[in-house]
Amino acid sequence: MRSAHRLAAAATAATAAVLVAAPSSVADEADVERYFDEVALELAEPGVWVDPDVADELDPEWESELDAAAADAPVDMRIAVVPAGKLDPRGEDEFVSADLLWEGEELASQLYDRVGVDGVYAVMTVADSSHDGRSFNAVQHSEEGPTYYVGDAVDQAVDCCAPSYGPMIERFIERASEIDRPLYVDVAPWTGGAAGVLGLWWGGTTLSNRRRRKAEEQRHLDVVRPMLNDEVIELSQRVSELPTTADIEQSKLSREVLDTVEKARHRLDAVAGDDDVQAVTSMLGSARYKLACLVALRQGKPIPEPTPPCFFDPRHGPSTQQRQWSPTDGAEREVPVCDECAGRLDTAQAPIARTAGERNYWEGGEDLVAYIEGYWTSDDNYWRFPHDDHGRARGDLWSRWESRRPRARLGRFSRSLGRGISSAMSQSGSGDDDGRGGFGGGFGGGRSRRRRSSFGGGSSRRSSRRSGGGRRF
Ligand SMILES: [Zn+2]
Repeated sequence: MRSAHRLAAAATAATAAVLVAAPSSVADEADVERYFDEVALELAEPGVWVDPDVADELDPEWESELDAAAADAPVDMRIAVVPAGKLDPRGEDEFVSADLLWEGEELASQLYDRVGVDGVYAVMTVADSSHDGRSFNAVQHSEEGPTYYVGDAVDQAVDCCAPSYGPMIERFIERASEIDRPLYVDVAPWTGGAAGVLGLWWGGTTLSNRRRRKAEEQRHLDVVRPMLNDEVIELSQRVSELPTTADIEQSKLSREVLDTVEKARHRLDAVAGDDDVQAVTSMLGSARYKLACLVALRQGKPIPEPTPPCFFDPRHGPSTQQRQWSPTDGAEREVPVCDECAGRLDTAQAPIARTAGERNYWEGGEDLVAYIEGYWTSDDNYWRFPHDDHGRARGDLWSRWESRRPRARLGRFSRSLGRGISSAMSQSGSGDDDGRGGFGGGFGGGRSRRRRSSFGGGSSRRSSRRSGGGRRF
């Protein structure tokens, strides 16, 4: 499988002359090596990277979906889609059978060598035919954690979907997210019995879950987007009407408000889901607070402390006081309010509440979770929203979404296993805690990374090969 170059490189310096004299051009092999170094840089983070020269082969929609799916996979997964011609040291325009510098799973291992992080690596080489070097190759190298069905995933991808690159990669990600053996078997051979259970339970649902969540977030947007549009327009209007001032502090604050509203507007233009909604309302809340500071400065009053927005309508700006209030079916509680709402409550009038459709916004359920979370979070503060419906909706939503994150599911599952297994798992590093990010506030999750080796290839520092395979098609 290995090319003459690899063998020569593995030999001692004494044979370097042979390499120079070899029929294939050394400079061209170096080109391939350099190209692969660049591919590795593009895949510093898990995901899918498509060489721009073959971008036409993959619908951009597919590409971003697959990229996100690979990044969300339970194991760090890096997939490169590259033209086969760039891996042939003789160049792309040869009218002969393609002869790639590396073939099969070694191709994927070369990518792993360059990135230097344990995980699953796959390389799709794009060409017109198998003769031209069209192939799909993948491997898992890991010292710790479960073994995934990587070799089988290559077979399934080719068998189901070749030569359609998008569907092939989709099938690969699904299958390669399933655990073959929960632990590295050489460390704990007796856990074979658990493997079947885990494999079955795992179920390969990563992608369909992502789709479902995306559809849910889309429904939230249908409700929230018009509300946000109105709010951004209204705030932009107010900002444009701010008087010019010679006061340095005031003009600085005016500029900040303007910047914040602009940022919110841009984020709203590109809004794609709950993360964006939360970011937008957080910025709108911040802009309103700064406007309140500006008013205080103008009146020669002290700058107010940041507070949560008026409970009845965040558009009223930061709250200035607390009042007792009872929802329709709930106990009396203290809510933060603006001056005007306080006045209404004091005179037994109902404050005019922000609505979402026909409902008060706090009865908007899951649709409004991100909207409220953003408003009730500032750079330095997180305030508790005083209505239980929101807390319940948020709990439902986040636990459902979190339970769909395979890494989190593995964590729960392994904790529920018997003591014997879990202690062995922790000794050998089951990976269940590895890289689990927080979930509160933002929906993101941190990932821990272990950089093992620097760029430059060579197999001496490779972690154990777990599973892999490669096929031309
Ligand atoms: Zn109010």
